[in-house]
Amino acid sequence: MSTAMSHGTVIVGAGQAGHTTAMQLRAAGYEAPVTVIGDEPAAPYQRPPLSKRYLLREVQPEHLALGGRARGPQIDLRTGERVARIDVDRRLVVSDAGTSFRYDHLVLATGTRARRLPEALVGGLAGVHVLRTLADADTLAGALDDAKSVLVLGGGFIGLEFAAVAARLGRRVTVVERNRVLGRVVSEQAAEHIRSVHLGNGVEFVEGRELASFDGVDGRVTAGVMTDGTRIEADLVLVGIGAEPVAELAADAGLDVDNGITVDELGRTSAPGVYAIGDCANFAWRGGRRRLESVQNAEFMAKAAAAHIAGRETPPRPAPWFWSDQYDVKLQIVGLLDESDTVVTRKAEDGNGFSLWHYRGDDLVAVEALNDPGAFLTARRLMDRGVSPAQHTVADESLGIRDIAAQALEATS
Ligand code: FAD
Repeated sequence: MSTAMSHGTVIVGAGQAGHTTAMQLRAAGYEAPVTVIGDEPAAPYQRPPLSKRYLLREVQPEHLALGGRARGPQIDLRTGERVARIDVDRRLVVSDAGTSFRYDHLVLATGTRARRLPEALVGGLAGVHVLRTLADADTLAGALDDAKSVLVLGGGFIGLEFAAVAARLGRRVTVVERNRVLGRVVSEQAAEHIRSVHLGNGVEFVEGRELASFDGVDGRVTAGVMTDGTRIEADLVLVGIGAEPVAELAADAGLDVDNGITVDELGRTSAPGVYAIGDCANFAWRGGRRRLESVQNAEFMAKAAAAHIAGRETPPRPAPWFWSDQYDVKLQIVGLLDESDTVVTRKAEDGNGFSLWHYRGDDLVAVEALNDPGAFLTARRLMDRGVSPAQHTVADESLGIRDIAAQALEATS
């Protein structure tokens, strides 16, 4: 590839997706300039430990770094710099420091931001937190040291992982969820199991009810007040009510935006040479659209965009997968649960966990594994090949998981 007169690739966002794109461009032999601009002060880091081992102080900040040494020309990593606007006609990116960057290809990897409660509800009280960045995690770790009772608003992954950490640290924890815990993301059976583990660790749940306001003393939160008037004492509140795609740059530049930046299978936006990947991207898939918030999606989309920019063959999209750690439970999910109509349960071979195999008709659409990594890995392998084991074989616990996979692969070969 010729680098003469090339402006190369500018990547906005130095998170999982942005960092991986830069690495993958070099791995694909791309030699033109690569600039990564990120508004956080830290070098690219992993977010998953922030709600897990980092808060337990089992992991130090330097262990969070997203590693890898890129071959080829150096990548220009600019941290602590925010991109203020993009001009897709002139192929120009302008940072809030006033610096302009020209590009041949632009990759938007701006992620999501934590959704916050309306200010009128929080009333300016201290002690109400969100968890998205390393800075948030450091603030929370300090707040946890001083806290006695914790209210977690929202029973999604981040809320429950934080609840598990706080319970482990001996805090009194109440989770408030207006529907059911993990309602959007895991099956009822898996949610019930995780809920029971939390109950066993002393966490209380207030479900199907809404928070109305907070009480505070001297500007600090002291309790959450439910719409029915119930008070939940808390000197620390974590708001875990989801995340919103960061899509303003794209919207202001006239790109199509709808629940994230709209892209095709390759991550291309509606503007020439401009890609959007990771949490901020709403991509075309199986005749519909999806926006996923996961490390695997960020990495896959980064790889696909980098291959396309470098003129290489793009990889096919694997089945989506995700994990969550709470106490000693490792939950791993492959596939998409909203497509399921039947579920088959199977005990783990070591007897300590189980898996839930979700089907739509005869097609395997998702598997949830709870402390059953063997089932998860087998399911991933099968789903990536579009192979569905017969339900009766999965239900038959006299058969090993490898035998089931072998039978299914043979039947389709
Ligand atoms: P991000 O990692 O958010 O990176 C985007 C970056 O762009 C940010 O640094 C942002 O500040 C920056 N940016 C935005 N706008 C601009 C601008 N204008 N100029 C410059 N920079 C900008 N996923 C899993 O699969 N498993 C897990 O267990 C898991 N646990 C998680 C726990 C926590 C606490 C959190 C917050 C997330 C977790 N995730 C997990 C999700 C996973 O971390 C995300 O899916 C992944 O980080 C997405 O990568 P990304 O690059 O798209 O976005």
